[in-house]
Amino acid sequence: MKISVLTLFPEMFTSVCGVSILKRALDKDLFGLEIINIRDYSEDKHRRVDDYPYGAGGGLLMQPMPIYGAYEAIVKKEGKKPYVIYMSPQGKTFDQKKAIEISKMDSVVLLCGHYEGVDQRVLDEIVDEEISIGDYVLTGGELPAMVLVDSVARYVDGVLGSESSVIEESFSDNTLEYPQYTR
Ligand code: SAM
Repeated sequence: MKISVLTLFPEMFTSVCGVSILKRALDKDLFGLEIINIRDYSEDKHRRVDDYPYGAGGGLLMQPMPIYGAYEAIVKKEGKKPYVIYMSPQGKTFDQKKAIEISKMDSVVLLCGHYEGVDQRVLDEIVDEEISIGDYVLTGGELPAMVLVDSVARYVDGVLGSESSVIEESFSDNTLEYPQYTR
């Protein structure tokens, strides 16, 4: 499977994806992870990607066109429409069942919002599903996207050493794991 992340802050992913189990899995090409800088698709001479919203409400919104440009580049490269998830406090709460469902998909795009969020037009146009990681507001969708990538990767074949790691663990059969002790 391939996960593409659309973000204004690609550097945030370096540490999480550059260590431990995720790094090993990526080095072995067990799944693909592409971090795409939305700013690269801005047509503004100052590479601007945000603007003030119409009407009331303060703060800045992410403009639709740079996001759409980044999305179109993925469609062109992959030759098909990927499944697009917008990380959003308004989405359905993420859980283990959803992680397993996503791990079976071919190509997934995670859109990370920032500032006050994203212009609704691009959401209407390209997003298939909105996912929240809980009932609180973060500054951006990057941490939620990393939570999703980490959790989904555990269900990709070969990423965890032993198959039993995902079978006998919390939430796998509506129970929580038992206490364990080192020898
Ligand atoms: N104005 C928005 C609201 O009131 O719902 C909050 C925007 S938040 C400051 C900026 C971005 O962070 C959002 O567009 C979203 O991508 C991400 N985000 C914040 N909290 C999140 C959560 N609980 N789950 C998933 N994404 C979240």
